[in-house]
Amino acid sequence: MPELWKLARGDAPLIVNVPHCGTHVPDAILDRFTPQGQALFDTDWHVDKLYDFVPAMGATLMAATHSRYVTDLNRDPDGRALYPGADNTEICPTSTFAEQPIYRQGEAPGTEEIGARIATYWRPYHAALAAEIARIRSLHGYCILLDGHSIVSIAPRFFSGVLPDLNLGTAEGASCGPLVQASAIRALSGQSRFSLVVNGRFKGGYITRHYGRPEQGVHALQLEMGWRAYLDEAAPQVLDRSRAAALIDFDRRVGNWAGNCSGTLREPIKNAIVRAWPPPSTKSISRDWCTSTSAPRKPTGA
Ligand SMILES: [Zn+2]
Repeated sequence: MPELWKLARGDAPLIVNVPHCGTHVPDAILDRFTPQGQALFDTDWHVDKLYDFVPAMGATLMAATHSRYVTDLNRDPDGRALYPGADNTEICPTSTFAEQPIYRQGEAPGTEEIGARIATYWRPYHAALAAEIARIRSLHGYCILLDGHSIVSIAPRFFSGVLPDLNLGTAEGASCGPLVQASAIRALSGQSRFSLVVNGRFKGGYITRHYGRPEQGVHALQLEMGWRAYLDEAAPQVLDRSRAAALIDFDRRVGNWAGNCSGTLREPIKNAIVRAWPPPSTKSISRDWCTSTSAPRKPTGA
């Protein structure tokens, strides 16, 4: 089995996490997929490449290698819906965003297999991500987690019309401090090429909501990008870097914003943390941040 993630560590107070760019599916699972499932259409295509400048700026980039169709890293392992009342795909999804079956008849995973996949794929990834957040927080007193996603621009199952290019989600402001959100919006809106919405249809998934603990110095934001901002949306979704250049350049500016929080934002954030919350013990951090009891896997290099 390939490693579950790629990790390039840096010491800047920013982690960019890309949980849905993976395309690996173990043969024993792939063989049970329909042709629509095997196409892996709902992958966040090439998002890790859009952020591949992150290590050079001294920040951390973590990206999944396995497909979200194996286990969705941005879903609650206890099965709680992301958006109660709305259509949601499961932690081991059985249908595509276009509502096509992922598995051939009778081949969808049952409760026992779902539990095994959570143990094999989901928990080790989250243990490693939680360890990176704890490492950065111990270095700076705070950490900014940018969860990077992309999605087909038209998906009637989830939203009407065409999705804006940039969808910033902060769980309605609960997953990051107000200073962080305000400066992120400034960085995202300082351009006229890409449309932007804040806490619209996408308010942040499990990762943003679970790790975003601004009172403990962890500020999480999700940036969901519509494919039309950088891709021809029909399969195969080949990355044309010249087409994506504007978005990559834009991402770099956003990354610089977050990475440079050690400049303009460090003192206000630190002050806010100190005022709001005594430093928690290491033990309580690990208990709060990570539901896994398994040890982190040894990460790969860049
Ligand atoms: Zn995604």
